[in-house]
Amino acid sequence: MHFSDLGLLPEITQALLNKGYETPTPIQAKAIPAIIDGRDVMAAAQTGTGKTAGFTLPMLQLLSRGPKARANYVRALVLTPTRELADQVWQNVETYSQNLKLSCQVVYGGVKINPQMMNLRKGADILVATPGRLLDLFSQNALKFDHLEMLVLDEADRMLDMGFIHDIKRIIKLLPRKRQNLLFSATFSDEIRELAKGLINDPIEISVAPKNSTAKSVEQLVYEVDKGKRAALLKHLITTYDWQQVLVFTRTKHGANRLVRDLESAKLTAAAIHGNKSQSARMKALNGFKAQEVRVLVATDIVARGLDIQELPHVVNFDLPNVYEDYVHRIGRTGRAGASGEAVSFVTKEDALDLFGIERLIQQVITRKVEPGFEPKESIPESKLDTRPIKAKKPKKPKKPKPQTEQAGETPAVKKPVAKPKKKPNITGSKPQNEPRKPPKTDQARPKKPSRGTFRSTKG
Ligand code: AMP
Repeated sequence: MHFSDLGLLPEITQALLNKGYETPTPIQAKAIPAIIDGRDVMAAAQTGTGKTAGFTLPMLQLLSRGPKARANYVRALVLTPTRELADQVWQNVETYSQNLKLSCQVVYGGVKINPQMMNLRKGADILVATPGRLLDLFSQNALKFDHLEMLVLDEADRMLDMGFIHDIKRIIKLLPRKRQNLLFSATFSDEIRELAKGLINDPIEISVAPKNSTAKSVEQLVYEVDKGKRAALLKHLITTYDWQQVLVFTRTKHGANRLVRDLESAKLTAAAIHGNKSQSARMKALNGFKAQEVRVLVATDIVARGLDIQELPHVVNFDLPNVYEDYVHRIGRTGRAGASGEAVSFVTKEDALDLFGIERLIQQVITRKVEPGFEPKESIPESKLDTRPIKAKKPKKPKKPKPQTEQAGETPAVKKPVAKPKKKPNITGSKPQNEPRKPPKTDQARPKKPSRGTFRSTKG
């Protein structure tokens, strides 16, 4: 099957050829015709399946027909949970729309709001946004939704995990009733179905990746190692086996920073990406990694989810994740779009129960390995895979969130929003500075102090 068989315009198929795409992925083959047909779509698809093109290509096609957006008006709104994902979606839209006269803008928190307001005066055929900043811009009259034709919720499950449900509901109330809705989510949980009820109209349901299945092209390995030897083992693996690019996950922001210092002292280029970093530092780290100037990117879960890094050969779980489902998301960063990859987990004796929980979730015993010179004092007990279904482990409740955590976005993912806001935020008036919208929510779009950063708008 070719993209032209899906009824896409030659301007769009040409952009795909330039990008080197030959055939549509399964989600694209199913979603594109349905969306072009004007149907609402609910799709269960994880990052790595080509879902972004799955909704942006037909969206561009539909938008290319109508009149361009007027000042401050938005014709299609894409909501994403994190700034990085917003930027990634925006970059995709830019690439795919290179032969079309459509304007696309991206807005998120952590950067100054004024340039965003100025740019929105030109209107946006497509606006990619994180929920918090979108509401801020609306409250400052920088956005008008009366002409909105399409709403996309990308990584809807993650938005719910991060406590964005109230923001999303508030945003939906601002939109015209007649519109096309697309909902993309890694899974169709009860919460997602509940959200969809009030949002989506007679949808076509598409599912391409079975829940919690790990990519076939990823080789998974567990290295048994003592806690204090993990950094040395990581340096050893990188240098001995000449790993050119590796994404490393740590459980905490401090752990990420400490590991970066350790790697740098061994003359390995490394950068950390987590919610305590300013938006510009996060983008610098990510872009440096993508440009292969940074060999090791050390990340925490929330920020890393959804990052699209081409054909990443190695992912290391320096710490096992707090939430077992994050294991699947983490290793989804490697072996993508047909490329093979290796996902390595460092497991200490104390982590044995978490390892067994993950194995139960993925229904697979992961191969164990001990690297010569790094033998642990005590081995992990044998896995006895229990095939009873397991619910994802919920992290312990944070004792009392620090202000920076509330602002910068690092609360571990949980199934339900952790706390309800005490009172309804005022979206039409100004909000006291530094007041968190709802503790301990992770609002990526709402930093403590706006820092200098990128804002992009193009083509008009
Ligand atoms: P996504 O799931 O949207 O994050 O996309 C995962 C990766 O697959 C991205 O790097 C895309 O550029 C790439 N991709 C998307 N569609 C195709 C396709 N039809 N052929 C080849 N690569 C693709």
